[in-house]
Amino acid sequence: MSLVDSKKMFEMAYKNGYAVGAFNVNNMEITQGIVSAIAEEKAPLILQISRGARSYANIDYLKAIIGVVVAQNPDIPVCMHLDHGDTFETCKQCVDDGFTSVMIDASGKPFEENIEITKQVVEYAHDHNVVVEAELGQLGGIEEDVVGVSQEDIGKHLTDPEQAIEFIEKTGCDSLAIACGTSHGAYKFKVEPTLAFDVISGISEKIPGYPLVMHGSSSVLKEFKDLINKYGGDMPNAMGVPESAIGEAAKMAICKVNIDTDLRMALTAKIRQVFSETPGEFDPRKYLGPGREAIRKMVKRKLQVLGCSGKAAECA
Ligand SMILES: [Zn+2]
Repeated sequence: MSLVDSKKMFEMAYKNGYAVGAFNVNNMEITQGIVSAIAEEKAPLILQISRGARSYANIDYLKAIIGVVVAQNPDIPVCMHLDHGDTFETCKQCVDDGFTSVMIDASGKPFEENIEITKQVVEYAHDHNVVVEAELGQLGGIEEDVVGVSQEDIGKHLTDPEQAIEFIEKTGCDSLAIACGTSHGAYKFKVEPTLAFDVISGISEKIPGYPLVMHGSSSVLKEFKDLINKYGGDMPNAMGVPESAIGEAAKMAICKVNIDTDLRMALTAKIRQVFSETPGEFDPRKYLGPGREAIRKMVKRKLQVLGCSGKAAECA
């Protein structure tokens, strides 16, 4: 199977009440950890590449790695997605590079401007059989150069369902990332958040079958937070979105859930542990290997939370 777009995945996810995991990749080990879990769980897969990842790794390396993923897993539908494209030019570049899905995030711009930029991307992408995710509303937290609002203000920047309907109709975007109380990064919240499920149901009541996307959905797992802090790290106040809330949203119109922070923390926790327990170790395979294994286990669990285990075949 070659790379696919996310249309069929979202159609099945919506219909059968689960969400597809979208995992950020920067290098070989992270990708391998994710893909081992996906292969074991037989789940559909969205591998996403941010602009930061593009410039860190060089897109040709990432494309080659994803090419191997596709070749070695013929039964798994794999979508290659641009995470947080900021301009038409970035999105166009990714379409030209062979991505099957791009995100244009003009959510920081005024409503009308967001519509204009998104429309332009949709037009170009659709001409090349590539699907488009757009964003409306503002999340909290920080992800690379995407800076959001503080937790106190998250409630004021939630996606307005009425506006979302107008936005979807005017732009023709294939899926929409919404602000429903989640937040980017490891320091999402000071107190445990509650998600605004009414934003999700408000949209799906008006456009049944339309796929929504949740960003900033890492859970900041205690296991990795504790390891990082035990082995010389400093992340005492990290807090994420409870897995139970993510599972609830996945049963609703949320068809794609983005995970990045949990991958970073799993890798970092294991590397710290190896460095601390065996300070004489200098073979990168001896610390990247355990990191990759921690990612595999974490992603397996995540797929069960999302409900997409065993769903590869119906999405292919
Ligand atoms: Zn995001």
